[in-house]
Amino acid sequence: MIPVLMPTYNRTDLAFKQGNGVWLYTEDHRRFLDFGAGIATSSLGHNHPHLTSVIAQQAQAVIHTSNIYRIPQAEKLAKRLTDISFADSVFFCNSGAEANEGLIKLIRRTQFKNGHPERTDIICFDHAFHGRTLTTLTATNNPKYLEGFGPKVPGIKHVPVGDIEQLTQAIDSHTAGFLIEPIQGESGVNVIPNEFLKTLRKICEEKELYLGFDEIQCGMGRTGKMFAYQWTDVEPDVMSLAKGIAGGVPMGAFLARESMAKHLTAGTHGSTFGGNALACAAANAVLDVMLEPPFLENVIEVGNFLNTELQQLLYKFPNLFEEVRGRGLIIGLKCKIPPVELQKAALQQNLLTVSAGNYVLRIVPPLIITKEECQEGINRLSKAAEQLLNTMELTQ
Ligand SMILES: *Cc1c(COP(=O)(O)O)cnc(C)c1O
Repeated sequence: MIPVLMPTYNRTDLAFKQGNGVWLYTEDHRRFLDFGAGIATSSLGHNHPHLTSVIAQQAQAVIHTSNIYRIPQAEKLAKRLTDISFADSVFFCNSGAEANEGLIKLIRRTQFKNGHPERTDIICFDHAFHGRTLTTLTATNNPKYLEGFGPKVPGIKHVPVGDIEQLTQAIDSHTAGFLIEPIQGESGVNVIPNEFLKTLRKICEEKELYLGFDEIQCGMGRTGKMFAYQWTDVEPDVMSLAKGIAGGVPMGAFLARESMAKHLTAGTHGSTFGGNALACAAANAVLDVMLEPPFLENVIEVGNFLNTELQQLLYKFPNLFEEVRGRGLIIGLKCKIPPVELQKAALQQNLLTVSAGNYVLRIVPPLIITKEECQEGINRLSKAAEQLLNTMELTQ
């Protein structure tokens, strides 16, 4: 019989009753170390005292009133996000895919308003992940995800990252702008070279195109700066956020400069839930914590520690691992085998991980993780690797 939840996930047979910091507990009191943070989303870990008390208080005050009234929590959040970024204005929605949809609409609308209604094409990049709605699925362009879902949405092209020649060829009179993740998360934690981002920026200046960054996974403190682009010399014109923005409460956003945002006038875009009081209160609580030094400095320091420890695993298990990459607390451990068996072995050590692409173990713990907790995770991962090698030898 069909499960009552549609069978869209290969779920691990585990359910968590309680969380605390980087730890998750099952009903029968087994304790798991969380190196996945609900896919880079539970940015403050579980049961964070400030986040949970703000959410409870806001729920008792008012959860939702709709965007036909002012929402002070949203105004406060937008002010804070624009103060710390390139952007002048923010639109709140409920998920990453929805944020990218809005970002694409804004690029097209700006071109339209600037007298270029023919400029509708968005150039995306190989190995991207932008979401699962029809348009963001086309922007993602993974054949596995597209199969059976009808024609691709028109107006989206793909070129390989770093290939200036193909990029130049792809640009024509219909090009409106670019959409790129500064660090590609789902496809394997690929850090886009600074030089390539600079090239995109330069092309945008020359040809009056718009540069969109998808920071849904790599933004909101994940790299140890509030936004990943702050590691580069390049600022986008529009940027999408989601995942960690509200510590696990569903929320997305896109942020833009005034020159673009002014074109989304009343009635041009909307969302029933987007930016409601509860979600914005949660996101403000997340910012309260992240903006308090040395939160971000810690992400860098703990990230460096984790990176160094993972490098040691490369030497220890040369048959299993080949590269460590990433920035701050978004780290990819490139494996020589598909990481599913390693993940199963890690689960035996009560360590939760996620994969990325076909050969990468993705390590994206809550940003509040300590060095000691990282060390604990490394010990467990090392034991898992040993165990996996033993079983591999037995089956050979
Ligand atoms: C997760 C993710 C998305 C999609 O977000 P949803 O909330 O699942 O719609 C888009 N882009 C990137 C880079 C992501 O990591």
